[in-house]
Amino acid sequence: MPIKRSEKTPMSERDAILRAHDFLEVNEGYDLARASFESERCLRCQDEPCIDGCPVRIPIPDFLHAIAMGDMPGAAKILRTANPLPAICGRVCPQETQCEATCHMATRFFPVGVGHLERFVSDWEREQPLGEAPAAPWRTARVAVIGSGPAGLVCAGELARMGYPVTVYEGLHAPGGVLRYGIPEFRLPNSVLDWEIGLLERLGVKIECNIIIGKTIAFDDLFGKLGYSAVFIGTGAGLPKFLGIPGENYNGVYSANEFLTRINLMRAYDFPSADTPIKVGRRVAVIGAGNTAMDTIRSALRMGADEGLIVYRRSQTEMTARVEEYHHAIEEGVQFNWLTNPLEVLGNDDGWVTGLKCQKMELGEPDESGRARPVPIAGSEFVVAVDNVVLSIGNAPNPVLLRSTDLETNKWGCLVADEATGRTDRPGVYGGGDVVTGAATVILAAGAGKTAAQSIHEDLSAIAEAAV
Ligand code: FAD
Ligand code: SF4
Repeated sequence: MPIKRSEKTPMSERDAILRAHDFLEVNEGYDLARASFESERCLRCQDEPCIDGCPVRIPIPDFLHAIAMGDMPGAAKILRTANPLPAICGRVCPQETQCEATCHMATRFFPVGVGHLERFVSDWEREQPLGEAPAAPWRTARVAVIGSGPAGLVCAGELARMGYPVTVYEGLHAPGGVLRYGIPEFRLPNSVLDWEIGLLERLGVKIECNIIIGKTIAFDDLFGKLGYSAVFIGTGAGLPKFLGIPGENYNGVYSANEFLTRINLMRAYDFPSADTPIKVGRRVAVIGAGNTAMDTIRSALRMGADEGLIVYRRSQTEMTARVEEYHHAIEEGVQFNWLTNPLEVLGNDDGWVTGLKCQKMELGEPDESGRARPVPIAGSEFVVAVDNVVLSIGNAPNPVLLRSTDLETNKWGCLVADEATGRTDRPGVYGGGDVVTGAATVILAAGAGKTAAQSIHEDLSAIAEAAV
C-alpha cells in the first residue's frame, strides 16, 4: 500500500469569536488545491469499504478519482446520481461514523475527507450554468408526497426523474423540513437548500406549502377526489418530548423545536423586521447533547446570550452530537455539564424562569440501549441560575396525519413500513425517514425516500402492465 500523507487536509473555518455572534456559515469549504490534494490521499482500495459505510452507496473512490484527475463535471455526475442532496449531505452528514469510519486510511492515519470533498464538488456544481431543462413528467399515474424533508424531497425527485408527475404537500410555509426549520444557517445556509429544491422543481416536482394532510386535505381524498395512484409519507419526527419535571411551564422554557423554528424558519434573528419575538436571556441552559442541542445552544449565543450551558445526564462518551459540532461549540464558549440531571425548573412570581435545580450523576451498569446507566449521587443537588431552559431530549413522529388514518404504527407511534421497500400495510401507501425510524439522520431519510420511489415505480408499472 503506497504511503500517502497521513493527515486529513483541514477545511478553513471562520474565527470562533467573530462567528459566535452571527448566523453566517462557519465552514468555508476547500479550495481547488486542497481538494486535489485531499482526493489524492485516496488509495483506491479494491474492497471499497467506504462504499459499504455510505447509506446511499456513493461510488466514493470513483468520485475522488475524478477530482484528482481534474474532472469536476464527472465527479459531480457520479455524486449526484447516487445522492440527490450532495450539497446538504456534504455539510451535515456524520461521515465520521459512516464512510470515513470504514476508510482504510483510518486504520493507520486519518480517513480521507470524503464529506469535505462531497461539499467541494457540489459547491463547484452550484456555480456552473444549468444545462438544458429536463423533459416534463410524461406518465399518467400521479404521486403525492406528504412532507418536504429529505425523505419526501428525494422520493419526489427520483419519481420525477422516472417521468411521474409528483406533488409534495408541506404543512409549513416553506419546504425543507428540518433542513429549513431545524438546522441553522451557520451550518446549512438556506441558499444551499433553495438551490437543491430548485433542481427538483426543474425536474417537474410541484411543491404546495401550507397544506396539512389529515387536516387541510383528508388523507383518503388524495386517492379519491385528487386521483393520486400512490402516496409517500415522509412527515418526520417533529413532536418534541418533555421531561415531565416541575416548572416546565414557566415562561422562558422552550422545546428545541420551537426555539429553532422561531429563529430559523420565522427569522427571529431578524426581529423586528421579521415579526417573531423570542426572549433569550443572559444565561441559557440546553438539556441534551445531540446535534439538536448543539444547534440550539450555538443559536442562543448568536441571539445574544452571554453564557450557554449544556446539561447532560450521561458523560461525553455517550454524547450523540457530531464531533465537529461539539468542537465548534467548545470553540464558541459553550460550557458542558456532564453527568448532570435536571430535577426542576425554578421561576419567580411573575412566572419567568430563574434557575435549574440539578443533581450530579455517576455511571452504573449498561441499560437496555447498551449505554452506561446514569445513577443519581445522593445529596449532590445544586441550583444553577439561568434565564432560559431549552429541552432537547428527542422527538416523536408528527401525529396529525397518522391519527387520521388506520395505517399500522408501532409502540413509539412510528409508521410501520418495510425497510427494504418502504411499503406500508396499505397498498399504494409508502413511508420513510424519521416518521418510520424515529429521529435519525438526513442521509438515512434521503435513502428511504429513494428506496420507496423505486418500489412505487415497480408497483405502478405492474398495475399498468396488468391493465394492458
Ligand atoms: P423532516 O425533515 O422532519 O420533514 C418532515 C416534513 O413533513 C416537515 O417539513 C413537516 O412540516 C412536514 N409534515 C409533517 N406532517 C405533515 C402533514 N400532515 N402534512 C404536510 N406536511 C407535514 N441529521 C444529520 O444527518 N446531520 C445533522 O447534522 C443533523 N442535525 C439536526 C439538527 C436538528 C436541529 C434536528 C432537529 C435534526 C437534525 N438531524 C441531523 C436529523 C435530520 O434532520 C432528520 O433525521 C431528517 O431531517 C429527517 O427527514 P424527514 O424527511 O424524515 O423529516
Ligand atoms: Fe479511498 Fe478510503 Fe475508500 Fe480506500 S476506503 S477507496 S482510501 S476513501
